[in-house]
Amino acid sequence: MQSDKLFLGIDFGGNAVKVGLVDEAGNLSGKGSIPTRVLSDKASCRSFAAEIGDFVHGMGVYSSEVGGVGLAVPGIVADGVGQTPNVEVDWALFIECLQRQFPKLTIKVLNDANAAALGELWMGAGENAASALLVTLGTGVGSGFVVDGRVVSGGHGAAGEVGHMTVVPSGRPCKCGRAGCVEQYASARGVVQTYREWVASGRYGEAALELVPENDSDALTVCKAARAGDPCAIQAFKVMSDRLGFALAQVACVIDPQVILLGGGLSSGADVFLDDLKASFATYSLEACSQTDIRCASLLGDAGIYGAARYAMEERIRDGNERDWLDPDFGL
Ligand SMILES: [Zn+2]
Repeated sequence: MQSDKLFLGIDFGGNAVKVGLVDEAGNLSGKGSIPTRVLSDKASCRSFAAEIGDFVHGMGVYSSEVGGVGLAVPGIVADGVGQTPNVEVDWALFIECLQRQFPKLTIKVLNDANAAALGELWMGAGENAASALLVTLGTGVGSGFVVDGRVVSGGHGAAGEVGHMTVVPSGRPCKCGRAGCVEQYASARGVVQTYREWVASGRYGEAALELVPENDSDALTVCKAARAGDPCAIQAFKVMSDRLGFALAQVACVIDPQVILLGGGLSSGADVFLDDLKASFATYSLEACSQTDIRCASLLGDAGIYGAARYAMEERIRDGNERDWLDPDFGL
């Protein structure tokens, strides 16, 4: 095994931290998942980093044989990791501990949506495209943007925050402190909220109440209801498609991606809304990009692993080589 050509991708999510080893050809040779924990002190960070090291060793690979480590985090990455509201982690401390596991490498950190976009562009549904925008439709709406194989982070690490584009001025309040963001209409929560509003309005009379969302983000049940012909559910997805299509058309005016990929849990309901989304996008976009390919992502939960590994691979090439020294003051 040419172990020096294996790259470790770590995708730090709200429920699980996914890890995988990927070679330069894009073969995922092994992956694992560790439940996410609070990492707020040295002991917890060190123990978690050691578990990641154990995963690598369990694959029969020495830490020294790993060619690079990419860490995807659920937050804005600029000079350091910004706020990550879905996880409680002392990032500086955790990255130091992770560094300790791989002392000859620099841990390369990127935003998780950017990682997923990079992964999809490399080995998934965006393969062979020069540029791709990935929109993840989950509890919230995330997005990542890749051009010529490079993630675009922006001047403040906030590039590609499609979920927080305003599509309804003075609309539904958003956790970002503003109002009317895409996320409030096109996320799983947004769809459920719209569905409930239509049901409460009584506009369509009694809804098909045998398919009722079990919680605030259970949009897949709304999908089922739409497939069963429930007019409130169908309308909820029409609203979602209209707002998201509007937003993506504005994005296309600026960055004109070759392909737009849809990921996240709600993308499994694309049969319900994809045609409407494409129609909405075409209605609102410039003629030149109105036929932009919009399709579902394909790597599903592994996109972040691929992307983080790929990022480490590219950064290693950019850096020229790995560190061949150890910081004598590295005392943990
Ligand atoms: Zn917002």
